[in-house]
Amino acid sequence: MNNRLYGNLIFELSRKGRKGYSLPKADYSYSTSDLPQNLLRQNDAALPECDELTVVRHYTNLSHNNFGVNDGFYPLGSCTMKYNPVINEEIASLKDFAGLHPLQPADTCQWALNIYYDLQKALSELTGLSEFTLNPCAGAHGELTGLMVIRAYHQSRNDNERVNVIIPDSAHGTNPASAAVCGLHIIEVKSLADGTVDVESLKALIQEHGTSIAAMMMTNPNTVGMFERQIPEIAKLIHDCGGLMYYDGANLNPMLGVARPGDMGFDVMHINLHKTFSTPHGGGGPGCGPVGVREGLEQFLPTPHVAFNEKTNAFVVEYAPSSDSMSLGSIGNFFGNFGVVLKAYSYILSLGKENIKMVGPLSTLNANYIKESLKDLYELPINGSCKHEFVFDGLKDKSTGVTTMDIAKRLLDYGYHAPTIYFPLLFHEAMMIEPTESESKETIDDFIRVMRAIADEAKNDPELVKTAPHNTPIGRVDDVLAAKHPVLTFKQIANDGN
Ligand SMILES: *Cc1c(COP(=O)(O)O)cnc(C)c1O
Repeated sequence: MNNRLYGNLIFELSRKGRKGYSLPKADYSYSTSDLPQNLLRQNDAALPECDELTVVRHYTNLSHNNFGVNDGFYPLGSCTMKYNPVINEEIASLKDFAGLHPLQPADTCQWALNIYYDLQKALSELTGLSEFTLNPCAGAHGELTGLMVIRAYHQSRNDNERVNVIIPDSAHGTNPASAAVCGLHIIEVKSLADGTVDVESLKALIQEHGTSIAAMMMTNPNTVGMFERQIPEIAKLIHDCGGLMYYDGANLNPMLGVARPGDMGFDVMHINLHKTFSTPHGGGGPGCGPVGVREGLEQFLPTPHVAFNEKTNAFVVEYAPSSDSMSLGSIGNFFGNFGVVLKAYSYILSLGKENIKMVGPLSTLNANYIKESLKDLYELPINGSCKHEFVFDGLKDKSTGVTTMDIAKRLLDYGYHAPTIYFPLLFHEAMMIEPTESESKETIDDFIRVMRAIADEAKNDPELVKTAPHNTPIGRVDDVLAAKHPVLTFKQIANDGN
């Protein structure tokens, strides 16, 4: 696809004196003698010099080397790469939103506060929790905020010995990382063969650590896509010893309209708006990781918080008002990423109250359909009804020598993004597939056809798969070399005579 004429690097296209811009004449004059002499450049910056059309084609061609949800199926388990409707972007970029200032007086931006408030309420409705903050800027940031709420709760009761958090061995890596950043200790609880929490092991841990347990973090459906059936019992065990239940709701997709964490006995949770609520993500953001709490924990949430004043009939911004406030105070940049809030709000309203209830069932149906259609060729370590995602442990036929990495690379040749690979760590050749609700049956059927074709190639022509990809602009990179000795600068090749 890459057009060689327009080059891999803009510097290769540079020709001395070429220009793609014109600036208006300055209506002021300045002299470099006004500037500190030691800060002045000795030589001109080696900037590329190109005409406008060349620049446009260069970057357009580069963009074709990328793969996104708008290019093709992107079944990345645990990351929920769902369709990002363009209307969300359009709403978020309206100048009445994009031009706001975070310190603007509340009476000059009631419309924006109204939306912020409505999303807080919508998330409460969807999750069965009492109050939400939209301030955290990512899932991991939400986890940290939620754990800080939990710590503040224990401290408010002078229960200062609670320093341990129980986390299942299948958890997303951010769970133990956030607990550690929060100054808490991690106690790992084992999973059973079916991927769910081993309640007997949990009982033993509670016996041992009882009064030092601050919380238990759980993901449901868990990281292998299984619904944790023992939650009422687990919640009772944790509550009885004085701990709180934390729900990692980064991937809330299969739960939408089906079940609510608040009804299951969870006290605190976070949601990734940039997964479940359709904001595009990857490459580090921007994200939004709202945190919800049950009744009785609202006072610990961070500020600023958007509330509605019944008396004045207006939306107000609450900052931690006094030194005896229980609020965590600010945990980041004012209100977090308002653009993501707008996209999630637009997504929820586009679907509406009835359609949003179809997200859970449809994403679950799609995942089970793929799993059942491929399990004769791919190893299914946990055989059962999954939720929105499931895990294969490589090919069933281990004699081919073809690995999960090889299959992931070969998928690119067929125009499909790879699933999440080598995660979770419970299996050696993990391949975690999440189709989401927005894919058509034709797309899913074609993906199944391709996965079957690759299994066939692995058997009859394994070299073809092991040396993939063959059709992409860049072949198989050496991950280790790329990570340990990255080449991050370009040495300019003179092609313009100097
Ligand atoms: C993605 C994810 C997170 C972390 O979210 P970030 O926004 O990447 O920080 C946490 N838990 C689970 C289960 C996830 O899938």
